[in-house]
Amino acid sequence: MPFPFINRRLNVKLNLMLVAAFGGLLLTLGIIVNVNFPVLLRQLGQSRLEDEAVMVERRFVELEAQTLNAARLLIAMPGMGGVFETGVTSQTRTAFLLQASSLGLDNLLVVNQDGDRLVSISNSSAAYNRADEEKLIKLGLIGAATTGLVTADDTRQVFLSGVVPVKNAAGTVIGAVLVGREIDDALLDELDYARSATHLGFVYDQRLVARDHSKPEEFDDVLNDEAAFIAQAGAGQLVMNMNPAADADGSADVIAFVPARVGGEIQGVFIVRFELSAVYTFQTQLVRNSLGAMLTLLFLALALAVVFTRRTITRPIEQLKQAAEKIAAGDFSQRITISSQDELGDLARAFNTMSAQLNSLVTQLQQRMAETQAAREEAERASQVKSAFLASMSHELRTPLNSIINFSKFVVKGVMGPINERQEETLNKVVNSSKHLLQLINDVLDMSKIESGSLNLFVEKEVDVSDILQTVAATASSMLDDKPVELQLEIAEPLPRITGDKKRIMQIMLNVVSNACKFTQEGHVKIMAQQQNGSLRLAVEDTGPGIAPEDSELVFEAFKQTATGLRQGSGTGLGLPISRSLAEAHGGRMWFDSVPGQGSTFYVSLPVQSETLQPVTIE
Ligand code: ADP
Repeated sequence: MPFPFINRRLNVKLNLMLVAAFGGLLLTLGIIVNVNFPVLLRQLGQSRLEDEAVMVERRFVELEAQTLNAARLLIAMPGMGGVFETGVTSQTRTAFLLQASSLGLDNLLVVNQDGDRLVSISNSSAAYNRADEEKLIKLGLIGAATTGLVTADDTRQVFLSGVVPVKNAAGTVIGAVLVGREIDDALLDELDYARSATHLGFVYDQRLVARDHSKPEEFDDVLNDEAAFIAQAGAGQLVMNMNPAADADGSADVIAFVPARVGGEIQGVFIVRFELSAVYTFQTQLVRNSLGAMLTLLFLALALAVVFTRRTITRPIEQLKQAAEKIAAGDFSQRITISSQDELGDLARAFNTMSAQLNSLVTQLQQRMAETQAAREEAERASQVKSAFLASMSHELRTPLNSIINFSKFVVKGVMGPINERQEETLNKVVNSSKHLLQLINDVLDMSKIESGSLNLFVEKEVDVSDILQTVAATASSMLDDKPVELQLEIAEPLPRITGDKKRIMQIMLNVVSNACKFTQEGHVKIMAQQQNGSLRLAVEDTGPGIAPEDSELVFEAFKQTATGLRQGSGTGLGLPISRSLAEAHGGRMWFDSVPGQGSTFYVSLPVQSETLQPVTIE
């Protein structure tokens, strides 16, 4: 399957790559946030809960101190001394009442040195546990300022109480003041500053004495569900439950259990419920904001990257492409204006250089072509002149030459009267020389036709090569005279009839066979023919002097002869080049094998049916 988008525009591909890269980045970011967010939340929740627990602890210590201070303020009240000396007047009572309520106290007890209750004020009818009170009063009367819890037997309220000794000017303890504040919802609100995500409860003696009035239902089952944690805190350890049972409103809460120390003793346990959603909302907002900012930045970066790739990559490439197209269309004046120092800039500069070089090359080429065209036209004209000259010359020469031959033959035959032996011999020489000259003229004419490309074949169908070879063999045997050379003809019948020029095929074979007869002094000359894959292969084997390898191309060149040929004397060096051209004009080929000193074999291969040869009637 081909790679998707392979055929899209470069611009599209680059932008897709950028989007994919940025998309991948976003996805990674999303996964990281998603995986780490809950863990982060839990850790943040735990640390917030710890903070809340510590704060409640500290705040409670402050409240204890405040309670003691309230008692001290009461002692410093004017008229306090009179309470011990003269007894309580209605005036001092009212003053106590006012002071106690202004200090936020729920009860107040003043005792003398003997523990007699001089003033007892309470804003409820609760029956305070005497033992609890006595314990604290005793401490006060021995001069200690301390705190403790006082319970109410009937209402089961619990009071954070403080006792302070009252001393006379000499520093002797003459009594004590005991004050108390109920540990109720209001006090709990003070401990956590009534923050909405934090809900407090207070457990004393396995009782839930107070709970956050804004969410009381959250504490309904706390004594049962969290008994183990409460017991641990009761033993003095600050513990946290990070996975409590789902609470009433289904929100995810975490709970801390804080030992409540009063007067240095663990007296109860504060339950600090913290709503994780407070952290969650804040953190989600934070993450959302950061993600939003990151997204915006990413999109900005993406847009920048898109613009950047367009400016620096795709647009220059587009320019290059357009210029290349124009050059391809032949406009070599194209130049690209990319000046950047990167690879594209280098490419553009190389392109401009190439374009300039192409321009000059094309100009030169056009110039040369024009010159060549002119030269060719000139040559063609010259060749036509030459052909015309040769044609007329050969005609002019052949006619008288034929007359010479024929008249000489008449004279030899004695038609003109008897001639003596010497005359006959001389006239025969005239006939032979004339024939040789005629042959030479014919060869020169053929060669000039071949060179000027005006050689036309007289193509016939059904040419009987076997017949041609018989005729050639008859001529050859007369050439061999009385030389000890055996002429053999070996035709692998049946030979197919072929399409070609009968006279020209005869000319080829006569040339090759007469060369063989001419150069072979003893041995044999064998003419062979056979069909071979749609071709006719003709071969002439001789036992003559052979041809040296270095002469193998020379023998096919016009007017070129080897040393053997030159020594022989007769010959023009035109036979083989003409023969090869004729074989090629038939769509065939000609070549030879030779071992110098042993002989040569010339081959001619002609197609049986040649597509290029059309039977014509003009020569
Ligand atoms: P010509 O025979 O008229 O000289 P050719 O073109 O027919 O010209 O042959 C060229 C030369 O090739 C010959 O002069 C001769 O040197 C060499 N040649 C041709 N045929 C043979 C052959 N059968 N044996 C040896 N040499 C040959």
